[in-house]
This record gives sequence, structure tokens and C-alpha cells, in this order.
Amino acid sequence: MSSKPAPRSSRELVLRALRERGAMSRAELARYARVAPSTISTVVQELVADGVVVGSGGLHAAQRPRAGRPGLRLTLNPGSGAVAGVEFAYRRVRVLLCDLAHNVVGSGERELPDAYTSTAGLAAARQVLGESLAAAGLTHGALIGAGVSLPGPIRHRPDVVKPSAILPGGWHGLTGHDIQEALGVPVSIDNDSNLAALGEHVWGAGQGCDDCVTVKFHYGIGCGLFVNGTLVRGAAGGAGEIGHTTVDERGPLCRCGKRGCLDSYAAIPAMLDALRPQHGRLALPGLMALLAERDPGAIRVVSDAAELVGRQLAVVCNLLAPARVVVVGAMAESGELVFGPIRTAMQRNIAPNELPGLVPGALGNRHTALGAVALALGESDWLPAAATRAG
Ligand SMILES: [Zn+2]
Repeated sequence: MSSKPAPRSSRELVLRALRERGAMSRAELARYARVAPSTISTVVQELVADGVVVGSGGLHAAQRPRAGRPGLRLTLNPGSGAVAGVEFAYRRVRVLLCDLAHNVVGSGERELPDAYTSTAGLAAARQVLGESLAAAGLTHGALIGAGVSLPGPIRHRPDVVKPSAILPGGWHGLTGHDIQEALGVPVSIDNDSNLAALGEHVWGAGQGCDDCVTVKFHYGIGCGLFVNGTLVRGAAGGAGEIGHTTVDERGPLCRCGKRGCLDSYAAIPAMLDALRPQHGRLALPGLMALLAERDPGAIRVVSDAAELVGRQLAVVCNLLAPARVVVVGAMAESGELVFGPIRTAMQRNIAPNELPGLVPGALGNRHTALGAVALALGESDWLPAAATRAG
């Protein structure tokens, strides 16, 4: 007997594709699920008859007047379940709920104290999750899974939280299983940069681009790397962590224990520190206000930081030759003040590859939570009962 797993039925391939990528036409579905176009109509027809797949308006496709036309977009039945994206960020936890047709159906968030422990963070997440489900008219049992984003490296399979410069004590060594126990739902975990990239890849500015680098320019700086359509995590989960590449061996001590890291010069806290002698203790809204007033010092600090980020991005581009670079995070909202210096640094330092497209993210500040939703949709084992029939 062969030890290979049984091949997936066409029915299962179609259901997995709709769960991962949301609304698709029959032609897109055949391509993405790698099911023969001659088979797709029969499979879809059966799944629609079973009520598992519907036309993208939420109506049962068979009930729609033009259900047979090839351009109709199909989704999983939105009533068949939901997934949660849980984003642990700096002083905050955010929850986003999506149905299986990829519609956002609920959300919630809570402020957390500085350096919150895993116990406090997970308890708050469980509470926000419960409140968001109740507000959306859903029960906890409707959840088929949750994706969880943490601002630090994660080792995968088995999932373990690695030491992080941002996450305080109590998180290091936590396993996927521990987080699952705390939230009461099957979870998949990943770091925030990877999930920002995944969110933009599935829903935002990275759509349709198999070779795409997403850089988060925020309280830390990190990249999520799509190469040949696959998110690259590296052996220990830290691929793309450009925030801790060395800019100056003798530079200031970084919270990671090294000297002169990119984060120490270009992340938001470093910019706020640089402005302190002139402007006192600032927070992000204060920096944004100075930029809006065209304060020359603030513009100089931000443009120097963006130039450093652009130089590191050029190294990434020389290694991976992406077609597109997507910039997300609070600093991406500063437009040309940030994009100009990044573009110039990339133009000066990328060779011999062509300059990739440089675009802002398209998901506002929801890229990471949506990426966590996409992770849960992609990694869940859940399939409706109809998937197990022969097909
Ligand atoms: Zn560092």
C-alpha cells in the first residue's frame, strides 16, 4: 500500500480554495483549485444544491436569476461558520470576525497596559472575542478557528513564541496549544509583519502579485515576504526581520541587545526620541501634527528614517527581486514624505533588477488583523460535511 495521503477530491479542492481566497468566478476557481474546467461546473452545481456554496450576493446561487452565467462569483455559504483574527499590538488587542464568505461581520478592541503579560493579554482577547461574537449575533461555537498575530518571531510546527524585543515576559515559550486553551478555539499564530503581508496579499495591495514584499513601517520595522506565491518564514520564523539589521556597529544599544539596528534609527520611537530636544516628550499623534504643520525638523527626521528603510529594502529587493513593495504601518500614511526617500534609496541601490512597484497598503490599519483572519481560513482543517462525499 502506498503511504501517500489520499488525493483530495475535486469537491474538497474547490471548498478549500473558496475558504482561502473568498469570492471567485468558476474560471478563477478552476485555475486556483487546479480542477479541470470540464469538472468545475458539475462540482459547483452539486455544492450549490447542497447549500454549501452560494452566489456572492449571499443568496443561494440557484435562486439567483442569472446563476448560470459564467461571471457569477461564488463563495462558501456565509452562514456556515466564522473565523477570528486576533492582533496583539503595542498596548492594544484587536479582534476582527469574518464569515466564511470573507465578509467582516464584527470587530472589537481594547487598550492594554504597557508591557502587558501573556495572561492579561489573552484574558482581554478572550473577553473582546466574546463581546464581538455577541454583537454580531454569533456564538463561540460558530468559530472554526482563529489566527493570532504577535509582534515577535514565532517558530512554526509546533508553534512556539520566541524571545522578542517587544513582547514582555510570559510570552516567550508560549505554544500554539497554550493560546488555543486560553481562547477556546483552534488557533494558528504568526508574527505581525508576516500577517500584514498575508492580509495585503489576500485582500489588499498585494493581490495577484506572487513576488511581493510588504514592509511594516511602524513602532518596529519588519517585512513579510511572498516569493513564488508562498509566504517565506525561514527556519526559525524570523525571515524578513529587517528592523534588526545593523546600520552602524557602534550605534545605540537596541532593545534586542545589539548595537545600531535599523529600528534604533528609523522606527517610530527613534523618531520621537530624535525630536525630544526641540519638542519634548511626543507620541505618534504629536509627530503627525508636526508633519502636517510642515515642521522642518520633523520632516528631516522622517525623511532620514525613510531613506534608511529604503536602503534596507533595496538589499531585500536585490535578494528576492520582488515585483511590488507594499508599505504599511502608521508611517505609510505620510505619503510622499515617506515614499519619496524610500523610492530614491531604492533607485540608488537596486541593481541589476528592475525597480519594483512601490505602493501603500490598501487595508488601513486592519492589514494585520485581516492577515490573522486569512491565516485561520488557510490553515483550518474545517470542511463542511458535503466535502467528504465522493467527488
Ligand atoms: Zn535590534
